[in-house]
Amino acid sequence: MSQDLGILPEKVISLLRGVGLILLLVLVLSGRGKRLPTVQIDHSISAQLPEDEFVYELKTNQTLGDLFNKFLNPNDQDALLSQLRAHIDPRRVREGTTVTVRTVRGDVKGPKSVEVTLNADQTVRLVSLSESWSSQLISTPTTVDTIWASGEIKSSLWNALLENSHLSEVNPTDREKLVLELNDVFKWQVDFVRQIQSGDSYRFAFEREVRTGGTMRTGHILAAELVNRDRSYTALWFDPNEDGAGTYYDLDGKSVKGAFLLSPIELRHRISSRFTSGRFHPILKRWRAHRGVDYAAPTGTPVQSTGNGVVVHRARGSTYGNRIDIQHPNGWTTRYAHMNSFFAGIAVGSRIKQGDVIGYVGMTGLATGPHLHYEMLLHGSHEDPLGIDLPSGDPIPEDQWKMWQLQSSRRVAFLDKLVSGPMSPEQSEIIKEPSNPGVR
Ligand SMILES: [Zn+2]
Repeated sequence: MSQDLGILPEKVISLLRGVGLILLLVLVLSGRGKRLPTVQIDHSISAQLPEDEFVYELKTNQTLGDLFNKFLNPNDQDALLSQLRAHIDPRRVREGTTVTVRTVRGDVKGPKSVEVTLNADQTVRLVSLSESWSSQLISTPTTVDTIWASGEIKSSLWNALLENSHLSEVNPTDREKLVLELNDVFKWQVDFVRQIQSGDSYRFAFEREVRTGGTMRTGHILAAELVNRDRSYTALWFDPNEDGAGTYYDLDGKSVKGAFLLSPIELRHRISSRFTSGRFHPILKRWRAHRGVDYAAPTGTPVQSTGNGVVVHRARGSTYGNRIDIQHPNGWTTRYAHMNSFFAGIAVGSRIKQGDVIGYVGMTGLATGPHLHYEMLLHGSHEDPLGIDLPSGDPIPEDQWKMWQLQSSRRVAFLDKLVSGPMSPEQSEIIKEPSNPGVR
């Protein structure tokens, strides 16, 4: 039969549903410690028809139509493709897509069902009816669990989470995602590359959605605390409308999002010169103040605006080279200099959001090597970007304060279950019960 369909033998997975069901019942019933009424089961199962399962993978430059050709007559092909169009554009199905075909064993008339797995989350199931085909979009079932973990940091948070043996159930990819999440939550307060030191500690409660296959689909941090150089930073998720548009607040109900990012380029780049009132200028060969911070980074490294604002200067000068000034609320201005080029479309008057790329690192103007020169000015006078307590974001709106208090006390209780502090032992627990979305 597989020859009739032109299917490679290694692609053929044969299933005896009857045997499978008996095994399942044996397992279920023996688990309950009951004796098996074997004869009865055998009888009820014998009506099940054995089926064959064939799994195909869409190859490069192969269309679903090409693939369907292998096992469907032209009429069925048309019917199947038109059913499929109710859910997806069959021409856009990507290479590597899995198509599972099931046939009644020995039946040469054609398959009884076809499943097209679109991605890890969705499958279209097509079932043969007497004259036509029916289709259904099936979402891969997921469960939600909460991971609690705490521990001490010896080198980096990444290593700490990797070495936390209690997190062995969370695969490395998901742990990496966790580190990125934590970095995202705390990036306004703590520079993970430069400020984390041995003896720092963490504790967090992380909610994840898990597919049946065990991989994580989505997930976010419900509550987290980072103790950095004996200073504690707490972030609690608050999403009053439960639409995913929530944000993180500290214990006082103030947004942890700062009005400014800690750094205009990715934190892994080196600070090559700090803010000083006087230093020897390597090109001018005389002493002058350095009213900004230099970040040594390769030419082309993206430069991002540290806050929301409007471009008030965009030009090439002899000293600063390619320079952009951005005006922010409350009297703040940020300046970015020596850039190799500006981001396309940026002009005086452009509205910029925090984190938007505005240009690329270079060495235009007076510079000995590629670096970004960054300044912060308050009402026109220079401030040390690394020295000021950056202004924080918005507080909880007054009409949501009660709900916030209720939710935050719950979340703090989450954290309090985990011992923290420099001597805290590694801990982790995975709560398997589904969380109640209402109390997220
Ligand atoms: Zn500089």
